[in-house]
Amino acid sequence: MFTTVTYPSPTADQHVLLRRRIREALAAELLPLGMTGSATRPGSERPCFICDQLVLSIDLEREVSIGQRDRRLVTVHEPCYLLWRVESMVLARVKARLPSAQ
Ligand SMILES: [Zn+2]
Repeated sequence: MFTTVTYPSPTADQHVLLRRRIREALAAELLPLGMTGSATRPGSERPCFICDQLVLSIDLEREVSIGQRDRRLVTVHEPCYLLWRVESMVLARVKARLPSAQ
């Protein structure tokens, strides 16, 4: 059986679940809005902070510092990180349009 190595991409259903999870985490302030310091590198086989799946050594991971008072580093998959960024931008735009919602 011939197999090709492809960059893992979540199925449509997983994608929706992941976005919902990220949105909930942003709303609960478990994940910060806006840009945070991050570094990209090969996966370290640690669990992803967003999806709980291991970031395998064949994947790319982002190490992101989160938290205001207790600053700490979390590991996320590159695709999870990108979704996080997208959802952050969406939420920031919603907040900008509704200044009284804060
Ligand atoms: Zn992930």
